[in-house]
Amino acid sequence: MISSDKGKAPLPVLGQDTAPRKRRHPNWIKVQMPTKPTFFELQKRVEQLELHTVCASASCPNIGECWSRRALTIMILGDICTRSCRFCDVATGRPLPADPDEPERVATMLGELDLEHTVITCVDRDDLSDGGAAHWAETITHVKAASPNMTLEVLTGDFKGNTDDVDTVLTANPDVFSHNLETVPRLSRQVRVQASYPRSYKILEHARNRDAVTKTGLMLGLGEEIGEVREVIRELAKMRVDILTLGQYLQPSQRHMPIARYVTPEEFAELAEFATECGIERTESGPLVRSSYHADGQAQMIRDIRKTRKLS
Ligand code: SF4
Repeated sequence: MISSDKGKAPLPVLGQDTAPRKRRHPNWIKVQMPTKPTFFELQKRVEQLELHTVCASASCPNIGECWSRRALTIMILGDICTRSCRFCDVATGRPLPADPDEPERVATMLGELDLEHTVITCVDRDDLSDGGAAHWAETITHVKAASPNMTLEVLTGDFKGNTDDVDTVLTANPDVFSHNLETVPRLSRQVRVQASYPRSYKILEHARNRDAVTKTGLMLGLGEEIGEVREVIRELAKMRVDILTLGQYLQPSQRHMPIARYVTPEEFAELAEFATECGIERTESGPLVRSSYHADGQAQMIRDIRKTRKLS
């Protein structure tokens, strides 16, 4: 078991693995080092409020850029995940009980930042009977009360396919319901060991059938064929998923799955075009795209979709 370091948000470290990298990234993958005061102010406040972020916990390469413009993705339900996906740098182990004060602290942080849009995510909590759905609902309720004009995107796990738990989250009325497929079906078992593709499709489809604005994302470069990615895009379009993100997988450390290849910016652009042709409303596709990267640029589109569906 990995012990929790509650109260100390892990410091973001760029490009420093415990083991040396074996390969250099191509020149189209450039990360911005954190130098702006905004970055360090945000880091301090996250620590003061004892919050966790996926930006730091998952060693996201965009942290320098995102935090410098005050965009962050808070991770709720602790910083220890019950699953052991082979691409992810978040610690695996036995998590602590959910912190009842966390929803309020998250709301405080986001209220102070006064953002147009934000993403909240969580570790998987297979140890909780509802997968953390009630805690999610409470967090959404607090955040919406503190930041009524901000659009809120929730990036959740699969709740083991339990649609009642999805309903608990949706009833709190997040502006976007997001769940990542991460890879193509053939590699799913290898990449996200305890997850299943049918289960992920099931909860996305369920959320969409309830008229939620839905979003999903895949990492490329894990060994998938472009044809397999296109097949997933067709399926997502059939399900009427609204937003798709496609980004390059970057191996967080030597312990993680290796990068099979670097997908070129041209291939990312072609896939975005293909997704649009298939009918997906919005696709963010590029080497450094993550599910939350530049998600704030989607705020107006989300408001428009919600208005059409009479959700707000
Ligand atoms: S892309 Fe998302 S996870 Fe990465 S630093 Fe930006 S907000 Fe955080």
